[in-house]
This record gives sequence, structure tokens and C-alpha cells, in this order.
Amino acid sequence: MIDVERGICLSAVNLGEWENVPLVDELSKRFPGIVLENDAAAGLLANHWFQDFDRVPADFLYVALGQGIGCAQMSGGRLVRGQHFCAGEIGHLPAGSEGRLCSCGKTDCLQTWCGERGLLKSIADAAPRYTSISLAEVGERVTGDAILHSALKSALQPLAEKVATMVALTDPAALIVACREPSLAEIVPAMLSATLEEFGLPVAVISGLSPEEASLKGGAVAVFRKAFKAENLRL
Ligand SMILES: [Zn+2]
Repeated sequence: MIDVERGICLSAVNLGEWENVPLVDELSKRFPGIVLENDAAAGLLANHWFQDFDRVPADFLYVALGQGIGCAQMSGGRLVRGQHFCAGEIGHLPAGSEGRLCSCGKTDCLQTWCGERGLLKSIADAAPRYTSISLAEVGERVTGDAILHSALKSALQPLAEKVATMVALTDPAALIVACREPSLAEIVPAMLSATLEEFGLPVAVISGLSPEEASLKGGAVAVFRKAFKAENLRL
């Protein structure tokens, strides 16, 4: 979570004890033109700028699945940040009742269920034969393995429910889903799409750029946006 106006990292629980770190001030002592951006917001900006014009509308949600869960929203071509720069922070919402410990200190946050490690735990709990399977193996085998397919879809259910709430509240034209694990890049959006349809929310679900690529490219977009001081500028 960051304060983009003051250039402060408010917190980053997945990185350790990062609280109220004045990143822009510190880095600006050595490098000119520092811009601070949230990684999910940067991912959204990259998908907006670099994906096909026809496929990425001005109103969409972005969800990135990696160690944690990143989420951001664009509405009318503008990035939604919220009053406390917390808009889209769904990764630490309660999502279960098993007592899974989260890096933020709470238990059963969404990322403990649908972050990469959380998914593997849920899959192993559902089907013990997959206790030591890797996420890459899940992606490679899931299409031809009905049990694994069912276990992955069930494991994604807490994320699907949170995303469904966001879709119902914001009525986006599309949901862009990015997975750090390449072999899951198509199957996870397909599963989320199927679950959203079951909920009566037939929103277009698009596979996005990988989160790392999107965050890097989005960082460049953030620099352009600041340089031109245009919130919804798209070149
Ligand atoms: Zn948490």
C-alpha cells in the first residue's frame, strides 16, 4: 500500500516490516525522477496501455495472482485509488476459517487461500495425492486430470467470490487476470469466468500480461503519466 502523492510506502506486508517508508525522498537523493506506484496499479496500467485496444476497455478490473493477490480498478479510464490508497486491496480480506497464518499477522486472509502457497495447500487438502505437486505441474496436468481440475477450481472459489463482489459493485466491461505461474495463465481466468457465470455475472475475463512484466511496464507508464500530469492519458 502506497501514498503516491507523498511518495511513501505505507505498508508492504509481503516484504517484511515496511511501514511509512519515504521511498521517493530516499531514492531521489541518488536518482532523479523517482515515481512510486503500487504493483497492482502498475499492472493495470500496463494492460491498459500495452494490450490490444479493442480488448481492454476503460472500465475494468485487474487481478494478479502470485505470492499474494493484487487487485486494481480502472473506471472511465481513470485509476481508482480510494480515499486511503486502499482501493482493490482484497488480498487481506477474510476468506476462510482454518486459521491459516498470513504475513500481515492475521489469519485466513484471501492470500492464504488463493495466493500460490494457499492454492497448493487447498489442492493437497482436497486430494492428498497432490501433497507435493508444484504449481507448474498443476498447470501442466490440470486440463487432463478431472480430480486436479476440480481441486483447483474449488481452491480458487474464495477468490472467485471476492471478485464476484467487486464485479457486482463496479459492473466492469472486463476482468483481466494475470498469473505469475505461466502454466496457469489461461486456466485460472477460464475457471474464474466459469464461476462468475455460475453466479450470473457473465463478465469478459481476459488473460493479462504476466504480473512481473506488467508491473515493470506499468512503472514506465507511471513515469509517463507523471511527466505529462495526465491521469487518463493513453499514448
Ligand atoms: Zn493478511
